[in-house]
Amino acid sequence: MSLSLQQPASQPRQQAIPASYGFHPIPTSVIHTVAHEFGHVLGMYHEHQRDDRDHYVRYQCEKLEGYDQAKKDVEAKGQHTIEEVCASVSLGYEYNFPSAPQFSTQRYFDDLGGIYVTKGGEYDWHSIMHYTSDAFHNDRLSRDPPNVPLFRWVNGDPDFQPPPVDHTPTADEAKLIGWNEQETTDDLYSHIQTLYPW
Ligand SMILES: [Zn+2]
Repeated sequence: MSLSLQQPASQPRQQAIPASYGFHPIPTSVIHTVAHEFGHVLGMYHEHQRDDRDHYVRYQCEKLEGYDQAKKDVEAKGQHTIEEVCASVSLGYEYNFPSAPQFSTQRYFDDLGGIYVTKGGEYDWHSIMHYTSDAFHNDRLSRDPPNVPLFRWVNGDPDFQPPPVDHTPTADEAKLIGWNEQETTDDLYSHIQTLYPW
């Protein structure tokens, strides 16, 4: 029997997409990701890149994918430290370490002018524009705060002084940030209204 792409005229055209497709539930993570990207389209940037974020979260660059190779390259070149690269948008890209710029607070000082950031209201761990703890994680099986790129301080607030970086957080001090706890907030609407007054 030969295969033909054409259907005989007397038969209805076959569905290229399985009939069950229309009823297949879309994973929640996909909906969050799409909403997050729409946030960028509307002009919002990442909540965790606010320049006051250290009062609320800890960024652990060494837990990012690509860190080990970037560190080797930085040391081989001898022009910068890995700490500088972890904190810098331009150096992150220069050393082929593109996950680091996604956490840099330098975004807030971008000269592009058109980029509006969500800073203004209270820090919002639940923002759709906030990364989860496992974003760009180099080891997704290690799901506890000392081992993820980003976690939240339980007592985070504008006056909270984070412990020194060599302090390993306890379960009472630190929590993971996940999609499940994230909801759209009034704060998010107010940012959009700032950009597009109505
Ligand atoms: Zn994003």
